[in-house]
Amino acid sequence: AGTLHVVATPIGNLGDLTPRAQETLRNVAAICAEDTRRTGQLLAHFGIDKPLVALHDHNEEALSQRIVARLQGGDSLALVSDAGTPLVSDPGFRVVRAARAAGLKVSPVPGACAAIAALSVAGLPSDRFVFEGFLPAKAGARRERLARLAGEARTLVFYESSHRIDESLADMAAAFGAARPAVIARELTKLFETVLDGTLADLLARVEADDNQRKGEFVVMVQGAGEDAEAEAKLAEGRRLYAKLGEHLP
Ligand code: SAM
Repeated sequence: AGTLHVVATPIGNLGDLTPRAQETLRNVAAICAEDTRRTGQLLAHFGIDKPLVALHDHNEEALSQRIVARLQGGDSLALVSDAGTPLVSDPGFRVVRAARAAGLKVSPVPGACAAIAALSVAGLPSDRFVFEGFLPAKAGARRERLARLAGEARTLVFYESSHRIDESLADMAAAFGAARPAVIARELTKLFETVLDGTLADLLARVEADDNQRKGEFVVMVQGAGEDAEAEAKLAEGRRLYAKLGEHLP
């Protein structure tokens, strides 16, 4: 049977596609990609010409069975996402699960991951951390999620796109307290790479004052709650209820 290679691709700088990733992509029968157009561009840059299979959240289940059949038939395949490591806030989980359930070999070709790259330059405690991915888009659900994280002692890692960075920072300041240390890593490995650190209040002010700081892709990291985590959590719950009450007052 073939192997399913889970291959990390760059999060910006094309130099971050490792030699082993290039070799793997060259040697497989086909590449399962989140967006075949974007992956096609990446492959073209490296002079790799391979059949691409589109992988979306809505077809992942059905496609998984076809991929398993193909692996069982002897073809080795690669799985990539648009940027970084597949399955990390990206499709691929169902395919990997199906391949493993069928007893097939699934092998990683590690490389860029925005969360890990961001943590590596943040200067926040990172011996233990919690990856939270994207926060809910709706304000109510987002605030509830944050309130539940207020007492978390480990460093928190969030993904954020440009649309909501200011709202998310404001909600974080409300949930965790404006004085909580945090770091924003923007456009890592790209031309406008910026890493800002400060309290949540500082960061919100800087992002609000400069349009450019709201552009691009972000990893937001927040230091965990201190020793008085429980007290902080209670305070945050109080803040959340107060805010909710505010919504119902004229
Ligand atoms: N699988 C990817 C990984 O391994 O990091 C993440 C994919 S997720 C759909 C995209 C999000 O990752 C962006 O909204 C942003 O939060 C983060 N991200 C991706 N590239 C980034 C970069 N160059 N700088 C900062 N954050 C980035």
